[in-house]
Amino acid sequence: MSAFLNAAAVVSAPASAPAPSGAAVGAGAGAGGAVCAGPLPVLGRDVTVPLVTGGEVTYAALDYAASAPALQRVWDDVAAYAPYYGSVHRGAGYLSQLSTDLFEQSRAEVAAFLDCRPSDQVIFTRSTTDSLNLLAAALPADCRVFVFETEHHASLLPWDGAQVTYLDAPRTPDGAVDTLERALADREPGEGPALVCVTGASNVTGELWPVEELAAAAHAHGARIVLDAAQLAPHHPVSVQALDVDWVAFSGHKLYAPFGSGVLAGRADWLQQARPYLAGGGASRTVARRDDGGVDVEWHTTAARHEAGSPNVIGAYAIASACRALTGAGFDRLVAREQELIAQVRAGLAGIPQVRILSLFGDDAPRVGVISFVVEGWNSSHFAAALSAEYGIGVRDGLFCAHPLVRTLLGSAPQEPGACGAPEAHPGERSEVGVPPAGGWGRSLNAIRVSFGAGTPDEHVERFVRAVGELVSEGAQWQYRTEEGRCVPAV
Ligand code: PLP
Repeated sequence: MSAFLNAAAVVSAPASAPAPSGAAVGAGAGAGGAVCAGPLPVLGRDVTVPLVTGGEVTYAALDYAASAPALQRVWDDVAAYAPYYGSVHRGAGYLSQLSTDLFEQSRAEVAAFLDCRPSDQVIFTRSTTDSLNLLAAALPADCRVFVFETEHHASLLPWDGAQVTYLDAPRTPDGAVDTLERALADREPGEGPALVCVTGASNVTGELWPVEELAAAAHAHGARIVLDAAQLAPHHPVSVQALDVDWVAFSGHKLYAPFGSGVLAGRADWLQQARPYLAGGGASRTVARRDDGGVDVEWHTTAARHEAGSPNVIGAYAIASACRALTGAGFDRLVAREQELIAQVRAGLAGIPQVRILSLFGDDAPRVGVISFVVEGWNSSHFAAALSAEYGIGVRDGLFCAHPLVRTLLGSAPQEPGACGAPEAHPGERSEVGVPPAGGWGRSLNAIRVSFGAGTPDEHVERFVRAVGELVSEGAQWQYRTEEGRCVPAV
């Protein structure tokens, strides 16, 4: 970076740009101002939505696991930078240099946020899905991949080109480690490289996986491990070094930075040796015609190798801003507050006998603010539609891109859910939490997921618990019909 150019100082200058809400842009982790005890300000917190039953209510965004609202701080930082926007790694002008500087500075901040090893590379991608597909494309020949069937499809499916061993759903964290140990021990002596792919926090149950133990097991057997932190990073500090994972992937839009970017961070060797994920400008150092008419390309060996095309500097900067905001707010405080919300929701749902919370590891498992459940006698799509239309609460229903896991938890065969309508009497079986009754959960071929995080006010979870109770005891106040497979209000 040239001496006259300090992206952080320039961007945070108030003269021609709205001042960022916190400390100077790019001031580094920990610069987020006062430690926060309540929810962090997010966009959309004052948005009201109409209710089918009349009137309006403040929208309760309780679908953070799909996409979290943007942090106000991230929005402000992006707005402050926007007038200075320029091309990255490809311009001589001041703003291009400033943007390049900001992009690289963002990379360094993400590396610090993830506590990466000094030799690790941080590659900006579009999302977790993109990051894991990038890693899949960079696997060495003969690599075997080990993945639990419980994974999100983004972790389950990209490994087509490799030999894949799908591991059965464990019922305890120790069971997960044992299953992996056994599978790795079964490898033939002299077999090629191996990669384990595991989620940090389930997008269905919110339960934390024993990542450190799985990493130790992988390494003990000469395998590497990639952590899908899509649901972990927004809720928990992630230390690549403490967990001893080889790579970590996450998405900006789940980390309060919805500007189209994600991250793959970790060991450089496999990535440097692999063919560039996308071929094009930015990934290539030199290109020259050969005498035989073809072209010779020398590819970069830095992160740029897998970042061909014009980088998404706003997306990268937004992620760095979110990292600063979470760290600056006191991540431990955010975790503690989220745990209180989790306890409140779980206690509220536990008081409603018709509700069954889905769980692999049981009630005592540590978890993040992602809770899936079914309601006896209700089609989940119907229930979620009523939460939205009658209470202004946005949750998700379905199989959450983790079909094998949700079907295991529901005990249901792969089939289409039935049409919505009036709640149906449930056969009446009772069973342990997470263990489906014989024959499954009646009509619940899908589940309902409520998820929340750093921007969630207490009132949203209180309204949610009250709404679930009212719907169960009094039924929906409105008629619903099925439209293209989804339940919608009948008007
Ligand atoms: N991994 C997990 C655990 C997820 O929950 C998700 C998204 O819900 C993904 C990966 C994929 O993330 P994205 O859609 O941002 O690529």
